[in-house]
Amino acid sequence: MVRADRVCKSFGAVKVLKGISLEVGRGQVTCLIGPSGSGKSTFLRCINHLERVDAGRLYVDGDLVGYVERGSKLYELHPRAAAKQRRDIGMVFQHFNLFPHRTVLENVIEAPILVKKLKRDEAVEKARDLLARVGLADKVDAYPAQLSGGQQQRVAIARALAMDPKLMLFDEPTSALDPELVGEVLAVMRDLADGGMTMVVVTHEMGFAREVADQLVFMDGGVVVEAGDPRQVLADPKESRTREFLSRLL
Ligand code: ATP
Ligand code: MG
Repeated sequence: MVRADRVCKSFGAVKVLKGISLEVGRGQVTCLIGPSGSGKSTFLRCINHLERVDAGRLYVDGDLVGYVERGSKLYELHPRAAAKQRRDIGMVFQHFNLFPHRTVLENVIEAPILVKKLKRDEAVEKARDLLARVGLADKVDAYPAQLSGGQQQRVAIARALAMDPKLMLFDEPTSALDPELVGEVLAVMRDLADGGMTMVVVTHEMGFAREVADQLVFMDGGVVVEAGDPRQVLADPKESRTREFLSRLL
């Protein structure tokens, strides 16, 4: 579903991604870990083309992200085509970014109506189903400020799912939450994984990585230092940098 082939990205003179290669199979969950500044968020943002890759290639579901290939040359996609690509990829951030003056239900139906041109009743029906799935059936009419952080993050997940994404990206979805609220968000993510969603998750929740992920990727300094079965990487990291990082984390 995702194939990164020597992806590079710089900001000015700063090389942030220095040739990231990795694959995420359909229905698989990959967790990304690494120190602050190692490029995890930048890589996620490249996957849904919020950032433009400078070199290397990135494919989602077989399509080159952000470019069209003609012969051996790459041409940038028309913004409308790029937006269409992005629409199929759901993203959930550390901060939930819900619309504060709209109810939970309105937050979830907005994009399906505006972007997917769904009829309002269809969008509402779907939003109610999704909100029930994330355990918030009784909160449809609440405003974000009336919800806990964990509830707001579950709304953000439902909102992303309302666009029928083929891939979900999570950037530290639980790191802004009080510890007692982390579990409810991870449970929703696990349920999503069990349902066959392809997911790339930046997280330092190692229990989640161990139990849910098919692959654990350790990034440092803009490169993939080590990748493999989470249980194996966590129990017996091959690289000393991975070992050091994990020992600080656990
Ligand atoms: P964290 O764990 O703190 O979230 P990260 O692994 O997600 O870190 P990134 O946010 O990808 O790291 O940032 C990697 C590097 O790229 C950092 O040095 C950051 O300052 C730089 N960077 C990210 N975005 C930009 C930008 N838009 N302009 C300039 N530099 C940027
Ligand atoms: Mg980050």
